[in-house]
Amino acid sequence: MSRVPVLRHGRYVIEIRELTKRYGPAVAVDGLTFDVAPGRVTGFLGPNGAGKSTTMRMLLGLDHPSGGRALLGGRPYRELREPLRIVGALLEARSTHGGRTAYHHLLWLAATNRIPRRRVDEVLGLVGLESAAGKRAGTFSLGMSQRLGIAAALLGDPEIVLLDEPVNGLDPEGVRWIRTLMKDLAAEGRTVLVSSHLMSEMAITADHLIVIGQGRLLADTTVDEFVAASRRGHVRVSTPEADRLAALLDGRAVTVRRVDGALEITGMEAGAVGAVAGANGIALDELSTRSSSLEDAFLELTAGSTEYSSRPQAEEVR
Ligand code: ADP
Repeated sequence: MSRVPVLRHGRYVIEIRELTKRYGPAVAVDGLTFDVAPGRVTGFLGPNGAGKSTTMRMLLGLDHPSGGRALLGGRPYRELREPLRIVGALLEARSTHGGRTAYHHLLWLAATNRIPRRRVDEVLGLVGLESAAGKRAGTFSLGMSQRLGIAAALLGDPEIVLLDEPVNGLDPEGVRWIRTLMKDLAAEGRTVLVSSHLMSEMAITADHLIVIGQGRLLADTTVDEFVAASRRGHVRVSTPEADRLAALLDGRAVTVRRVDGALEITGMEAGAVGAVAGANGIALDELSTRSSSLEDAFLELTAGSTEYSSRPQAEEVR
């Protein structure tokens, strides 16, 4: 008989409903609605400035919504009786009191939340900081600060774990450690929401994706579906007669974009494009099929939603 693992967690869903945050005339979060389920890692993906941190701060009662609701297990943060037992969060590293030792920082947090002292030793072990427990937090490297922040987040053995850009600035070993930890926390049935501006990171870490841009929901999907939906391959053509070829393709059910002097055609096979060119005596320097990578898929979804973009925008000619 197969054994069904008994999950200690798994009852706490995050519910975001029509959540909105305005700062003066600027809208940081714009009518967001989504759920985050227990038992899997949900990636919260969006370019810088998309509204991820603001959403997380509203979940934690650190910012007041201009509209809508952000609920943890059906309640807003301020109604949780023992919040550290429900939700643990890592918002930014180095928010600890630099003069305190790692141990005393955690002990103080535990004491204010009626958490037993032995749990401090447990979480120090969990994040691999036992040997640094007596060191002042102010002397910690970024990687150690992240570990201490995560130890604090896990102190109350919380049902929900929120991590805002946890791999920023970490070395490869630290990145691997955080990835494994998030998967383990989810496997225990916890609700894990982790933000990132990097699609490549989320593809490795997350099971599910919430993608936002300019404060709005762009996708709520599994990582696999997101990639498949965005993998609309295109045909790339270089020719001295790009304008004539583009004109010949006009009227067909295709999209033609001009990128770096070449044409990128969506909705038509390479052979068919070659046939049109051949039939009209247009010489081609290049004819190739390109599939969209993960990163491209993300950029495609968030194009126009980025505050600052270092990528030249493709010129749409059809
Ligand atoms: P992300 O975490 O996705 O990078 P943020 O939530 O930090 O995005 O920011 C979303 C938008 O809200 C940005 O345009 C940012 O400049 C703006 N913003 C965030 N916090 C404040 C604030 N306290 N006052 C004014 N604007 C803010």
